[in-house]
Amino acid sequence: MTTAAAGSPRTYQVRTYGCQMNVHDSERISGLLEDAGYVRAAEADEQPDVVVFNTCAVRENADNRLYGNLGHLRPVKAKHPGMQIAVGGCLAQKDRGDIVRKAPWVDVVFGTHNIGSLPALLDRARHNAAAEVEILESLEVFPSTLPTRRESTYAGWVSISVGCNNTCTFCIVPSLRGKEKDRRPGDILSEVRALVDSGVLEVTLLGQNVNSYGVEFGDRYAFGKLLRACGDIDGLERVRFTSPHPKDFTDDVIAAMAETPNVCHSLHMPLQSGSDDVLRAMRRSYRSERYLGIIEKVRAAMPDAAITTDIIVGFPGETEADFARTLDVVREGRFSSAFTFQYSKRPGTPAATMDGQLPKQVVQERYERLIACVEEITWAENKKLVGETVEVLVAVGEGRKDERTGRMSGRARDGRLVHFATGDLAGRIRPGDIVHTTVTYAAPHHLNADGAPLAHRRTRAGDAAEAGQVPRTPGVLLGLPTIGAPAVPPAPVGGCAAH
Ligand code: SF4
Repeated sequence: MTTAAAGSPRTYQVRTYGCQMNVHDSERISGLLEDAGYVRAAEADEQPDVVVFNTCAVRENADNRLYGNLGHLRPVKAKHPGMQIAVGGCLAQKDRGDIVRKAPWVDVVFGTHNIGSLPALLDRARHNAAAEVEILESLEVFPSTLPTRRESTYAGWVSISVGCNNTCTFCIVPSLRGKEKDRRPGDILSEVRALVDSGVLEVTLLGQNVNSYGVEFGDRYAFGKLLRACGDIDGLERVRFTSPHPKDFTDDVIAAMAETPNVCHSLHMPLQSGSDDVLRAMRRSYRSERYLGIIEKVRAAMPDAAITTDIIVGFPGETEADFARTLDVVREGRFSSAFTFQYSKRPGTPAATMDGQLPKQVVQERYERLIACVEEITWAENKKLVGETVEVLVAVGEGRKDERTGRMSGRARDGRLVHFATGDLAGRIRPGDIVHTTVTYAAPHHLNADGAPLAHRRTRAGDAAEAGQVPRTPGVLLGLPTIGAPAVPPAPVGGCAAH
């Protein structure tokens, strides 16, 4: 039994770094710990009984940051007997036993393949008064079979696959997350249904490469079929997915997006570079022409589609001409948003030891030009929506200035961020509700709607948000999700440039 000496349940805190995979894994870590009797520490609690770091290895200085944070906790732990520190995620998978050698006050190190062992490892470390390090080379159970404490009442992540069979030279994912493992469509759809039954309106299907979904069970059209099957789920209003890979993108997916009413017309498709030479060096086996060809087909089928991307600038060997090609593709692609990254070495990746590493000032200068180009395009694309009506799913934490401006915020169906005035409905609109409003102003990264809303629909997700409840999906998906305690969302730091 996991209780503190005083008899009260032990408290926990999860600190999340990195990409959506990690944010969703943290939901599982929380679900597992709560199933084992732990309760989430209050946000202001500086001394939780257990602190779990869910780490990311994609940034060059990720380890410095981890050891810095562990160093800060050392005196806290010394003053708080019984406190435990656990380190999981990609950096743990990479550094393994080094973590307890460098920071011997860490109690548990667990990898990306054995999240489910965390409660047992914590118990064992306490019982034996010694650190437990357990890293597996391959997946024990598909992580979605673990209990999950969801962070949102209205939107949920659903994993369709983990791992990746590609070998992009800048990416550490394949060596840390292993080969692609596909989850059975029936299990995915059960989880989606369970979420919808608890009031969730929007589901994002998650995989390192959703377009290769089905490779394991021999159906290359499995992803399009999965999208269409989501279309049959009553109450599911929005389906999104991340991330597709241009190499494996097939036309049936475009048709499924266009023909399935609840699939959103938004596509986040990583470009990484517009130069074919750089794509070759990155071992990304599509070329810019193919990439632009997919965009063209998507726009032909869905003229209102918002297309977003990831771009890395300053990859080893990138010339000024290569970079100019990236700018060309940005202009041709007419993205509604782009996540831009300066290339930085990720230890353990082939690109880290390539010739032609560029000086920081060259990368910085290109990066600034790229951002200026992206913003010009995204602003022009956003301006096209002024005067249009958008359907907004009201969100929590999307509008930093909302309190000051009296607006609320959320995402339009195409994924754009909308800050809207609440008019006479102030105080009655809840996160998870749906609002229709007219766009009055466009900025490069968001839209404003400053007239009174045209319509407001109260939803079950809004009721749950008002009651402070979040869905939990149980470990084995036999029943409906139960309703848990209020969420304190993890603070994802940085982003995964893994696509
Ligand atoms: S960047 Fe994406 S597709 Fe490439 S290896 Fe990494 S996870 Fe796989």
